[in-house]
Amino acid sequence: MTEFEPVIGLEIHVQLRTRTKLFCGNENEFGAEPNSHVCPVCLGLPGALPVLNRRAVELGVRAALGLHCTVHRRSIFARKNYFYPDLPKGYQISQFEEPFATEGFLKVPGVASGDPRRIRIRRIHLEEDAGKSLHDRIPGATAVDLNRTGVPLIEIVTEPDVRSPEEARDFLSRLKRALEYLDVSDCNMEEGSLRVDANVSIRRPGAGLGTKTEVKNMNSFGNVERALVYEIERQRELRSAGAEVVHETLLWDADRGEARPMRSKEESHDYRYFPDPDLPPLEISAEWLEAIRESVPEMPWARAARFEGAFSLSTEHVEQLTATRATADYFENLVDAGTDPGDAASWVMGEVMAAAKNTNSTIADFPVQPALLAELLQLQRSGRISRPIARRVFSVVIETGRSPTAIVEEQGLAQVTDESALEAWVDQTLSAAADEVERFRAGDKRLMGFFVGQVMKRSAGKADPKQVSRLVQERLKG
Ligand SMILES: [Zn+2]
Repeated sequence: MTEFEPVIGLEIHVQLRTRTKLFCGNENEFGAEPNSHVCPVCLGLPGALPVLNRRAVELGVRAALGLHCTVHRRSIFARKNYFYPDLPKGYQISQFEEPFATEGFLKVPGVASGDPRRIRIRRIHLEEDAGKSLHDRIPGATAVDLNRTGVPLIEIVTEPDVRSPEEARDFLSRLKRALEYLDVSDCNMEEGSLRVDANVSIRRPGAGLGTKTEVKNMNSFGNVERALVYEIERQRELRSAGAEVVHETLLWDADRGEARPMRSKEESHDYRYFPDPDLPPLEISAEWLEAIRESVPEMPWARAARFEGAFSLSTEHVEQLTATRATADYFENLVDAGTDPGDAASWVMGEVMAAAKNTNSTIADFPVQPALLAELLQLQRSGRISRPIARRVFSVVIETGRSPTAIVEEQGLAQVTDESALEAWVDQTLSAAADEVERFRAGDKRLMGFFVGQVMKRSAGKADPKQVSRLVQERLKG
């Protein structure tokens, strides 16, 4: 019997990083005192009229352009009607038949085949968020916080092109990176600014689509992957036993590691969409669209390809260097300031990332400007200081923000290249290590590293390791 093939489509809600909400002037701020950012518009009081936030449109369009979508010059806002305690108006303003963007794609490396695969994006539309029900604030009761009501979202809907849970996770992390480069959202899943639902079915290869289920309530990419593994297995078991998959919505329970059907009462919505009579069609002029197009940055995949070509770096290193826009900027500024690309890559992936991690910061707010690090790496490249000394100076630069050249001069850290001084250190080291010298002469050539290390230690890191290695070799030849 041939294996079943998973068919997965994803729906991703992304909160846009605007100052205010989509249709009113209330602040779009996470974590504020409940119900402190509300007004007649987002509360849906009679007579209050929505006014579209142009900034939200710009961010949405920028995201759509970055994801290779066609942006439509005219789109329509529609009311999605349903009843829920966190939805005071009784409807959500969304887009339905005429979204502002369609037909984009995002490439993933192709988990199984190794060839890049295109995951098509069917549509992106603008909509407002609903409020939030809080079940832990008032004992025995549910509280409602309407601060989130009316916060601008884009919903990104893919075609059912994803073929495995692993690929879903990969797609999502690449999408998140793209959205971060585009600077349209903070994409924080814990704060709910990025939310993922999945449509899942299975089929025999080449057959038509099977009945799908919708999986919700997955609050991390890891949970998306786990929930998909669970649901695909559940459908396989059903179908293998000759049973049918029922079309339903399932809620992922991360603690129990299972997906359970939503009560049908909460489900079966007939949203009765119709164009919102309070809002005119969204018209995007050619000039406006052009201005937004100019704000689209170089996307991560383009940047990675450029780095790989221009700086002869490996694909794996380029992935790391373009993981965030701030990392890529830092690396590139370092190279622009005259640093050798190899040195720059090695330091950014090594010392800089480690130092950022140690201080609980990210490269975006890393205290050492690329120009200062470039100065330090110039000292290392020219041979004035060794890499261990460069590391020591780097930590002083992090603490003080002072010039590396000044630190090297003040603390007398310049590399010692004077032969007689080096010879003295080498001789002292070798006479203190008679046993090791014996073993080296007997054939244990691995001890070379030990001797060089000991001389470096004796010189407090100031000896030139290349010269040291040459001198040790000369001494031990005889
Ligand atoms: Zn409001």
